[in-house]
Amino acid sequence: MKIIKKESKLCLSCMQVHEVWTVQVEEESTFNQKKVKYLALYEYCNMTEEYIATEEMIIGNDIAMKDAYRKANGLLSSRDIIDVRRKYNISQSDLATLLGWGKKTLTRYETHQVQDMAHNDILVKIGDDPEWFLILLERSREKVSERAFAKYAEAARVLYAREANSYIKKAVLAQYAKEHMPPNAFGNTEPDFNKLVEVINYIASSSVTSLYLVKLIKMIWYSDALNYKRHGKSITGMAYKALPMGAAPIGYDQIVALQGVSYQEVEFADGIGYLFGADQDFVPHLLSDDEKASIDTVVGRFRDASKKAIIKTMHEEEAYKCTEPYCIISFDYAKQLSLS
Ligand SMILES: [Zn+2]
Repeated sequence: MKIIKKESKLCLSCMQVHEVWTVQVEEESTFNQKKVKYLALYEYCNMTEEYIATEEMIIGNDIAMKDAYRKANGLLSSRDIIDVRRKYNISQSDLATLLGWGKKTLTRYETHQVQDMAHNDILVKIGDDPEWFLILLERSREKVSERAFAKYAEAARVLYAREANSYIKKAVLAQYAKEHMPPNAFGNTEPDFNKLVEVINYIASSSVTSLYLVKLIKMIWYSDALNYKRHGKSITGMAYKALPMGAAPIGYDQIVALQGVSYQEVEFADGIGYLFGADQDFVPHLLSDDEKASIDTVVGRFRDASKKAIIKTMHEEEAYKCTEPYCIISFDYAKQLSLS
């Protein structure tokens, strides 16, 4: 028996006011013909040496017992089921509708009723597969409110993009491992690819002229460097290499393939150019006001600059001049950035 708390109150065992203990006890019960061990909560009276369960404890202990059974049998716990639903920000009855189950099914699964294996598999799959969620949601469009539909779809799209991007993220992080990193290569920020996607969209939605790849990646570097200069940390956490055309994030060719980044291919005499545009319904969620202000300054400076002009400006930065060709640029140089 483990004492969780001691509280002076009316004891339901001896019916006197005294210090009542809340205790945790290991119990064993049989459920579905299987023995399960779990931790149950009780109130304990040390006068009568009795354990008493409040209404709330009876419900909690029943869930604890069933969760122990679920765990032993490879099923999602009631908490896991709640987490699946929270991923999509969806109500119990709407998720039940999407899955074609009775309205109260999920309410029961999140409490006292243990789901069968078939329903369990469906819940596991829906938790892991936002694309499938979107298909089911589309199918039930008429059955949920318009507002709820938009909210669930947005949550699923964010999850989907995050998943699609995790492969690219791994590939870029693997490239980092091969490079010689100077101190302060990331500008005090963990690489954040979702934020990078926002930075790209934020720049692209600021009516920048001819936003081709070279101009875009320069503007991302300037945004990170300026934010570092102002606030001591970069925005995206990308590491940049000193290439002949200026700073470029490691793995920039893969980064532009991130889900949520849109571009058009434009044919030129000397090859194909990638013209970036903002995602149609782009709204920044992750960028702080300070970060947006840094990007705004960079956009203000380079909005109409040609690729040549921005490369020329970059070549005059200390960060570029002081870094050996093809080496990683330290954010320490951001202090001398030409922008402030
Ligand atoms: Zn008592």
